[in-house]
Amino acid sequence: MDRPPSVDQLARRLAPSSPLPHPVLVEVAREAIASDRVAEAEELARRRERVLLTPVVNATGVLLHTNLGRAPLAHAVEASYTNLELDLETGARGSRQAVVGRLLATACGAEAAMVVNNCASAVLLTLAALGTGRAVAVSRGELVEIGGAFRVPDVMAQSGVQLVEVGTTNRTRLADYRRAIDEAGVVATLKVHQSNYRIVGFTEDTAVAELATLGVPVLADIGSGLLDAACPWLDGPPPPWLAGEPAARQTLAAGADLVLFSGDKLFGGPQAGIIAGRAELVAACGRHPLARALRPGGLVLSALQAITLAYLRRDGQAVPFWRMASLPATGLRERAAAMIDQAGLSDARAVDTESVPGGGTLPGVTIPSAGIRLPGDLTDALRRRHRPVIARVDNGATICDLRTVSPDDDRELADALAGALADTAGRDHSRVAP
Ligand SMILES: *Cc1c(COP(=O)(O)O)cnc(C)c1O
Repeated sequence: MDRPPSVDQLARRLAPSSPLPHPVLVEVAREAIASDRVAEAEELARRRERVLLTPVVNATGVLLHTNLGRAPLAHAVEASYTNLELDLETGARGSRQAVVGRLLATACGAEAAMVVNNCASAVLLTLAALGTGRAVAVSRGELVEIGGAFRVPDVMAQSGVQLVEVGTTNRTRLADYRRAIDEAGVVATLKVHQSNYRIVGFTEDTAVAELATLGVPVLADIGSGLLDAACPWLDGPPPPWLAGEPAARQTLAAGADLVLFSGDKLFGGPQAGIIAGRAELVAACGRHPLARALRPGGLVLSALQAITLAYLRRDGQAVPFWRMASLPATGLRERAAAMIDQAGLSDARAVDTESVPGGGTLPGVTIPSAGIRLPGDLTDALRRRHRPVIARVDNGATICDLRTVSPDDDRELADALAGALADTAGRDHSRVAP
């Protein structure tokens, strides 16, 4: 038997057929030798290459797909210095928060706004800035967990504020909050959007407008990041599937002192958390030592600026999430039929589907959509493409929903489907062959 090659020899043998840098190929080689799979080393290297971060075609119909990076976003910047912390008017040191914060404040109808890493950071910072050891009231119906272990009681504990639970799981009244202020020394109320679940039946909750009458700051974690319930950036009226979703502008108008929301949910921007509302409270958040730890980088601020300007121009077409979310299903159906025709997908059918907003927003809400249905489960073959296609399986058939596919990717998707069908046909054939 041949002696196995040395790690270095094997890594060098892999180099001509792999774009991976030498130190990574060394790891692959070491793994191949240790597991006695030297013959498969090239495949191991390809696997390692395939899992690098890469653009994928989202054919799931889930507009904000947590596994696929939530809102789709294109943003390019030059390899250049920017005025990130330079005040171009005075030449003095500026704040990275000032410019984008001001645009966001205008967009939300707020006095001021600032940006942090995500909405979880926004909640953490806001509570911490209120003051460690002080008590904040939250309804027992709003002690939510959002995917990825964001749990309101845990975040509150980390911020150092004391959680005072009020009301019951299904009903919380203004009087419950008032009692907490009188008896437990509560200094603020936190209203948390339930986001990913609903309590139905014998329920009652207290609106922001009512909380605003209590005389302590109202903090509203609306999570989803709908900027304005009227959606003035769309050509038509707000889509019916948005009904009931809290919006930043209306929540502030109703009397919230601060609203907190994600940048990459219904806002359709980069991962970020936005804190908007009363200037002195935003300033207090900015002064807290955690603000430095949670601050966004220049790339995120630049992307957020572009999206915020699009909203201020009322140009929903410039926000990819809204462009996709507002497409009429009829056009999607036509695209599906055209793709089936052009790629000669004889087994495929254009079908009506249901898209969902996703991202832990609007549970149970669907958006009429259309796509392509193919027999069999092709999801593995589609995912292994150079440009991976992520589809779903329903009743033994593969469904590609076109709402979340950019028309620029239609060709790519059609080729992928034709390739996956040929692949599985080949596999089935080889299985029955003698
Ligand atoms: C999604 C969500 C969060 C967490 O937002 P991230 O930006 O993912 O940190 C917090 N609160 C609510 C109500 C949410 O819906």
